[in-house]
Amino acid sequence: ELSAYASQTEGREIELCPWDYSYYANKLKNARYAYDEEALRPYFELGNVIDGVFGLATRLYGVTFRENNEIPVYHPDVRAYEVIDRDGSFLGIIYTDFFPRDSKRPGAWMTEFRSEEITPEGEHIRPHVTIVMNFTKPTATRPSLLAPYEVETFLHEFGHALHGLFAATKYASLSGTNVLRDFVELPSQFNENYLTEKEFLDGFARHYQTGEPIPAELVDRIVAVSRFGAAYACLRQLNFGLIDMAWHSITSPVDDPEAFECEAGAPVAMFAHIPGSVIGSTFSHIFAGGYAAGYYSYKWAEVLDADAFAKFKENGIFDRATAESFRTCILMRGGTEDPDELYRRFRGQDPSITALLARDGITE
Ligand SMILES: [Zn+2]
Repeated sequence: ELSAYASQTEGREIELCPWDYSYYANKLKNARYAYDEEALRPYFELGNVIDGVFGLATRLYGVTFRENNEIPVYHPDVRAYEVIDRDGSFLGIIYTDFFPRDSKRPGAWMTEFRSEEITPEGEHIRPHVTIVMNFTKPTATRPSLLAPYEVETFLHEFGHALHGLFAATKYASLSGTNVLRDFVELPSQFNENYLTEKEFLDGFARHYQTGEPIPAELVDRIVAVSRFGAAYACLRQLNFGLIDMAWHSITSPVDDPEAFECEAGAPVAMFAHIPGSVIGSTFSHIFAGGYAAGYYSYKWAEVLDADAFAKFKENGIFDRATAESFRTCILMRGGTEDPDELYRRFRGQDPSITALLARDGITE
């Protein structure tokens, strides 16, 4: 499809090379969807989004958030909330730090200032977690308005935060997000699924000036655009995962890295190999980034989060019983048991790729 589009655009036969992909894919995406993510910002005013994202946890798990100005913070932009469980007990503290400043690095993350644990004296320590982003700061005339990808980031980090806050284990080293790497992104990516659910968005996504709810047509477009190029992106991730695992599995030196990688990636190769090119020499994720034999976990986390969300789709995306099961089987347990055991306990079966393929629009 992309080759045909490129040929039509250029008025001559184009054989796509790897370096052409992004250029033509973006052109085709814009031509097809006329999608301007910036135009959606008025529907995602930060205050409304906080209500929506925190409200998701209230709706699913019955927990509430109470801002407490008495809690000391490390910067005036930071806010602190007490998190209260549905039975009124204290779960922990969540700090939010949303805006860029000179001393802050870019990106978004969740960390724990203090992990949940039970001390040798029997005291139950509740966690203090923080979610940090780099959203556009409000001005005197305009509030902070988020793009959909920023709302997604918020949902993602908030999922990590819930993993930390719900922790009910004994040892801090096994508490909350201290789980195996190929399991840690399940709670966070699971939350992202809500971004494309109209029922969720209707609760808070209103135009900040007119109060108009986000139009269904715009939500459909968010979904369509999220699926654009999904199959390509999938094969690309699998290619990296296969090459990582191939390097990890060698038992003797490799004489010809180029041929070695070609063979490893052959099942998912889309373009003809470029002679002289090798991925491993620049694959810092696995040689310098801690992802050795773990690159697959990016794709695997998608399998898990789509499969987990499929259960919510079956029972209702706000179904309390399903949420309770997700909380007790997965979010509370940290790294105290094998992830596959925890997952099966929640899902009743092994994860399958069916839900992910459907969500990406690859299958019906
Ligand atoms: Zn994450």
